[in-house]
Amino acid sequence: MCDCTVGSISSHFSRQNDLGQPEGQGGVTGTTRRHVLAGLATGVASLLLLPRLSMASEKAPGVTPDDALTRLKEGNARFVAGALTHPNLTAARIAETFSGGQHPFATIISCSDSRVPVEHVFDQGIGDLFVIRVAGNVADVDEIGTAEYGAGHLGTSLVVVMGHTKCGAVTAVLKGDKVGGNIPALVDNIIPAVERAKGKGLTGDAILLEAIKENVRQSMTDLSGHSEELAHLIKEGKIKVVGALYHIENGQVEWLS
Ligand SMILES: [Zn+2]
Repeated sequence: MCDCTVGSISSHFSRQNDLGQPEGQGGVTGTTRRHVLAGLATGVASLLLLPRLSMASEKAPGVTPDDALTRLKEGNARFVAGALTHPNLTAARIAETFSGGQHPFATIISCSDSRVPVEHVFDQGIGDLFVIRVAGNVADVDEIGTAEYGAGHLGTSLVVVMGHTKCGAVTAVLKGDKVGGNIPALVDNIIPAVERAKGKGLTGDAILLEAIKENVRQSMTDLSGHSEELAHLIKEGKIKVVGALYHIENGQVEWLS
């Protein structure tokens, strides 16, 4: 996949290269995850994915995008207030979801940061949320395929991309930290957001916060821009994609416009 070696994030990667366009001097010479994404016809990818994961239809009936968003907002309010109800964590719920399958009401792409425990943050339980966690809450080929499964097959009407304050992945890209192994192919997804934030004349904590928000917007754009299935569901009004920022300093989820 990627033959990148350790190097500066900012000097080795650019969005143009990642999209498979001609590489400039100092650009990446390997194949990033996004190269794979760009080379896949999303319809074909869906056909490959679904038979392997296929089960009887598991679509949750009757939960609108607004209903799902309200449930998340109410759950986070309980979390912040210290009034968790810990729903759907009983043995009966385990048995119910084993025999009856899963019917989550929202798909959430969040960072892997241990300070962002998604089900706790929204006071949800087993079978409630279809969660994709990846460093920097990026939306590359694996995450988009998983979101297609959540929205297209399981029928979650709401897709949330949730960044968080003090995100280490975004910070690393902003600072141009040197990373190795497979990390460059991951964090190259964050570079466009950081570049936009840099162009806004901000400094210090403000530029990091803006880069984190831009990174959420980037993943939202990537979800629809690289998935015919998700773009169709959005156009048909069957799903909504919304952005959010989790504040690790106080537990609050801020909904981004
Ligand atoms: Zn993070």
